[in-house]
Amino acid sequence: MSDLIPTATDPGCLFCRIVAGTIPATIVASTPEAIAFRDIAPQAPVHVLVVPRAHLSSLDAAEDPVLLGAVVALARRVAREQGVAEGGYRCVINTGDDGGQTVGHLHLHLLGGRALGWPPG
Ligand code: AMP
Repeated sequence: MSDLIPTATDPGCLFCRIVAGTIPATIVASTPEAIAFRDIAPQAPVHVLVVPRAHLSSLDAAEDPVLLGAVVALARRVAREQGVAEGGYRCVINTGDDGGQTVGHLHLHLLGGRALGWPPG
C-alpha cells in the first residue's frame, strides 16, 4: 500500500508486541496495514481494538490519511463480520490523557452488540 505508511515498531509497546505475536491476543481480522483483536476487558458484547501495525503513539501522531483510512476501513469490515453493522456500533479513539488513552499505540475501539449510552463519561 502507501509507501508513506511508517513501519517503525517499539519493542516496549504492548500493542506492537501483540502485532509481533509475542503477546497473545484473539485476532479477528488483519490486513497489511492493521490488525483487529478482542479487548481484554470488553465493555460491550463486541469490543474489538483496531491498531495499525506501525507504532504511532496516538491519533495525534498519525499524519498519514491513508493509514488512518486503513484503520477505519478495517473497523467497518469487522463490524460487519461480527454482526453488529445492522444494529449499529460505535468507534472511539481515546487520545491523550484527557481523552482517557491508557496504551500509547493508536487504537480504535469498535463497540457493539448493545445500546450504548451518550454522552460518554
Ligand atoms: P485506551 O484506554 O483507549 O488506551 O484503551 C486501551 C484498551 O486496551 C483497554 O480497553 C484495555 O482493556 C485494552 N487492553 C489492555 N491490554 C490488553 C491486551 N493485552 N489485550 C487486549 N486488550 C488490551
